Amino acid sequence: MKILSVNAGSSSLKFQAYEMPEEKILIKGVFERIGIDGGFYTLKINGEKIEKKADMPTHDEAVKILVKELLERNIVKSLDEIEGIGHRIVHGGAHYKESVIITEKVVKDIEDLSPLAPLHNPAHVMGIRACMKEIPNAIEVACFDTAFHQTIEEDRYLYAVPNEWYEKYDIRKYGFHGTSHKYVSERAAELLDKKYSNIIVCHLGNGGSVSAVRDGRCVDTSMGFTPNAGIVMGSRCGDIDYSIIPYLMKKTGMSIDEIDTILNKKSGMLAISEISSDFRDIEAKISVRDHKAILAHYLYVNSVVDYIAKYYVELGGADAICFTAGVGENSPHVRRMIVDRLSCLGLKLDRDKNEEMRFGKEGLITKEDSSVPCYVIPTDEEVMIARDTYNLSNQ
Ligand code: AMP
Repeated sequence: MKILSVNAGSSSLKFQAYEMPEEKILIKGVFERIGIDGGFYTLKINGEKIEKKADMPTHDEAVKILVKELLERNIVKSLDEIEGIGHRIVHGGAHYKESVIITEKVVKDIEDLSPLAPLHNPAHVMGIRACMKEIPNAIEVACFDTAFHQTIEEDRYLYAVPNEWYEKYDIRKYGFHGTSHKYVSERAAELLDKKYSNIIVCHLGNGGSVSAVRDGRCVDTSMGFTPNAGIVMGSRCGDIDYSIIPYLMKKTGMSIDEIDTILNKKSGMLAISEISSDFRDIEAKISVRDHKAILAHYLYVNSVVDYIAKYYVELGGADAICFTAGVGENSPHVRRMIVDRLSCLGLKLDRDKNEEMRFGKEGLITKEDSSVPCYVIPTDEEVMIARDTYNLSNQ
C-alpha cells in the first residue's frame, strides 16, 4: 500500500511517499516558494537529487506537479494506488487526542483553531484541500502535533489564571512537536527493551521542546499555549516574565504585534549571539572565543538543563534522556555542555561516542556506569504520520 506523508506550510509543501507496511521511502521532496515568484521543487529518489523550477500560485499546482512526478517516475501506475495521505497538523486543540480520518468537520475544526496557530493551521488546510482535489480517492488523515500531549493531567496543563480564561478562551498548555516526542520515546523504550520506562526527550531544533514520558504517555512538556514557551530557541525567547510586555509597551510605545514579532522572530539565540539563529553559525564563532556566542550557548544550555532537572524530579528519576532534531542530533558541543551539567545526578558522558553521534546516527553517548543513559535518536515525524495513516486507512 502506498501512503503519502505531507507537511504543508504557508509557502511550502514537503512530502514523502512510502510503501507500507515496509516503511520503505519511495521518493521524497519539497515544493518551495508556493504563491511567491521563483517557485522551485527538489526531489530525492534512489539517492539522486533533482531540482526544478515551477510556477506554483497555490498549493493546488504543487500537488498537481507531485502527481505528475509520481506517475512519470513510475512510483505509481495509477493514482488509485495512493490509498492514504497523512497531513501534519500543528494545532489540534484539546479535542484531538490522536490522528483521525479527515472529514469536512475535521477541516473546519482545523480552520477554527487557526487563531491558536496562525502561521500553520491555515496552510495545512490549503494542503488538505489541494490533495483532496488532485488525489480524490485517497483517505486523508490528520496527525496533530498536539495529540501526544493530551495525556498531560490538569494540574500540569492549567495555568494559575482565572478559570474563566480556560473555560471560555481555551487558555491552557497544549505542547507541540508531539509526533517527534512520541517517535523518540517509543524508540528509546525499544532500545532500553523496557515497556515501562521514564524517558526525557529533548527535541532541540530551530524550535525546541523537552518532554517527560512515562510508560509511553506524555506527562509534561515545555511548550505551552503556543510554541513560544519553554526553552530558549533559535529565534524565540522561550519562558519569560510576562510583565516585560506591558512594561515595554508603556516605555517604548511599541505595539503588542511588534513585541510579539520580536519575541517570536528576533529573540532566542539570534538575539543573544547577535550572529544568527542557526547553531552552526554561532558555534563557528565559539572557536574564536566570541563572548556573545558563548553567552548564548550558556543561556540555551541553562534552559534545557532546567527542564531536564524538573522532569527528572517529576518522573521520579529517568531511564533515559534522548536528544533529537537539528541541534540534538548534530551538535556534540551542545550535548556535552548539557550532559556535563547533569554530572551532579551521576551522568557520565562518553566524549568519543558523543563526537561520533552526528548526521543521522543513532546511539548511546554516555559511559556504561552513567546513572542515566543518554541517546541520540534521529527523529522521524514522517514515518509516524505514515504509520497512523496506514492504520486508519486499513480500518
Ligand atoms: P530542525 O528545526 O530540527 O530542522 O533544526 C534546525 C537547526 O539545527 C538549525 O537551525 C541549526 O541551528 C541546527 N543544526 C543543524 N545542523 C547542525 C550542526 N551540524 N551543528 C549544530 N547545529 C546544527
